[in-house]
Amino acid sequence: TATLLMCVFIPAVGMIAERVRSNERSARRQYVDLLTGLDAVVWEGDPTTMSRTFVSPQSRDLLKLDPTALIERWNEYVFEDDRERENESRRAGVASERDFVIDFRMVAGDGTIIFVRDTVRVERDSSGKPIRMRGVLVDITRQQHAEETVRKQAMYDNLTGLPNRSLFNDQMRIRLEQARLTNDGMAILLLDLNGFKEVNDTLGHAVGDHLLQAIAGRLSAYLGETSLVARLGGDEFAILIQPGNSAAASAAAETIAACLTPPITVDDMTIQAGASTGIALFPGDGNDGASLLRRADAAMYEAKQSGRSHMFATPDDDVANVRRLQLLGELRAAIIAGDFRLYHQPKIDLKTGRIVGSEGLVRWQHPQFGLLTPIEFIELSEVSGLIQPLTRYLLELGIAQAAAWRAEGFEIAVAINLSVRNFFDQALPAFIGELLEQHKLPGNFLVLEITEREVMSDRALARSALSSFRELGVKISVDDFGTGYSSLSQLQQLPIDEIKIDASFVRNMLTDHQDAVIVRSIIDLGHNLGLEVVAEGAETPNELNALRQMGADRLQGYVIGKPMPAREFTQWLRKLSGKPDPNAPLVRPLEPSARPSRQLPANHDAG
Ligand code: C2E
Ligand code: CA
Ligand code: CA
Repeated sequence: TATLLMCVFIPAVGMIAERVRSNERSARRQYVDLLTGLDAVVWEGDPTTMSRTFVSPQSRDLLKLDPTALIERWNEYVFEDDRERENESRRAGVASERDFVIDFRMVAGDGTIIFVRDTVRVERDSSGKPIRMRGVLVDITRQQHAEETVRKQAMYDNLTGLPNRSLFNDQMRIRLEQARLTNDGMAILLLDLNGFKEVNDTLGHAVGDHLLQAIAGRLSAYLGETSLVARLGGDEFAILIQPGNSAAASAAAETIAACLTPPITVDDMTIQAGASTGIALFPGDGNDGASLLRRADAAMYEAKQSGRSHMFATPDDDVANVRRLQLLGELRAAIIAGDFRLYHQPKIDLKTGRIVGSEGLVRWQHPQFGLLTPIEFIELSEVSGLIQPLTRYLLELGIAQAAAWRAEGFEIAVAINLSVRNFFDQALPAFIGELLEQHKLPGNFLVLEITEREVMSDRALARSALSSFRELGVKISVDDFGTGYSSLSQLQQLPIDEIKIDASFVRNMLTDHQDAVIVRSIIDLGHNLGLEVVAEGAETPNELNALRQMGADRLQGYVIGKPMPAREFTQWLRKLSGKPDPNAPLVRPLEPSARPSRQLPANHDAG
């Protein structure tokens, strides 16, 4: 509402300014009358002395302060930690000759701390000298708190209070790094309840929920002190033991069995719980969290099949390791040979129904293994330093493609994924600048995606790198948003244009209320920061409709199209557009009742 209010209000200030000049006194009264109706504090001040000359009476409601108190001692009511920044931003804002926005905290008359957003306009005389500033102050405390809740919800499972999958993944990553430094081992146990589906189906979800809560309680009581226990989803729990080896893992598996033995009572019913556990060990079974979990999952499945309580991952994946090594060895030559393809996945504008962009996703056309997805080789190219030439190559393909589409009348912004290691490539901005020039492509037809997690891993580096890309007019998009725990203020300090809601939230949005809340909050928060919000991974028309109703700006997902080779994408665009207007809406410009499923094209398979 803050933004909305400002949009409505700022023109009103302008109108009123006219009248003030013609009839100072009566207009002033009208002005005050009008202001009293608003849920915001309006103020006026002198930009040379940085003092206030007028503060509207809502300060009594919003800040529990008399207007005169604010006129005389504004600075005192700015929360101490924010004071210097607030002053500095204000000075810079006045100097910048533009309207500006400052977020800071104020201490209200009753001592509470209020987050406010001040939107300021500076009036100038004909010589450009600032003569007056006017500001609108709104309370954004609720949004700030909503954001904290989102963060918390994004990390912990609502039902059991245990860490959820994304927090577990994050912890795995951090602890793996430690383990590498200390040369310690680590064990991952993946536990899946036996017969949980039957409990749910025959006794009802409420009983199922209680059972999960009881088991979560026992697991953390038995194991929580020495290890990390998380609920990954459904009836799946994960346990991380560090330092950990096969002996520690066996002991933990026994403990799990012991802790599940006493029957659990739910609503007068006695349930005997049981579980199958799969175990994967670092470094033996994998080098990263994803492969460890995969191996543990396979072992868990085998345990279930064979009726055993737990099983260790078998070293059958030696094949995979050999393949990894082979790929690592071939990577350089493959880049030189140009064996990489840039597939394109469409992004649709949810308001107009038009295809407005594509995400370029790399594939390796391997002579022996066929088409490889990035999961198999991006990490390899990062550790080997080859991500630099690979990314440059993909940028060339992407920029050339966007220019070709544009020449044909399709305005498609192409997104290329960056890894944080690309930020170390000092010459990359210049390289991109030259490519854009060479293809006569305006910068805004290129989007650079970087994951929230990677941006936050080195913010100073990210800020300077992103700024230099942005100077080229290139758009910056923060990928997998919601999994990296950045805060609103951290995000605000980065030069970015767009956030992409991580597909994991979108996937469960329609069945999981918590995820729906997260999606909605991310959209609202993004908009409050003036960012565009893209939803990723929507697979069904229902998801598309829900996201549109929540106000997402753009959408990318199988419901619109899978990643496809550039040529196929082009043919698809031509077919969709029909002749006369190549930018014709793909789906009707949409009101909530529209049913895009009918107008949507069939899915396209990558491959
Ligand atoms: P990402 O950037 O989050 O890309 C989206 C991934 O989700 C793609 O997988 C895409 O095929 C998939 N996807 C899109 N819509 C749907 C949907 O509706 N349902 C499902 N189930 N999946 C969907 P892909 O192409 O395998 O890429 C995986 C990841 O590899 C990417 O995740 C990105 O992080 C990385 N990657 C891809 N290309 C590059 C690249 O050129 N450079 C770098 N550094 N990373 C890349
Ligand atoms: Ca991406
Ligand atoms: Ca993503």
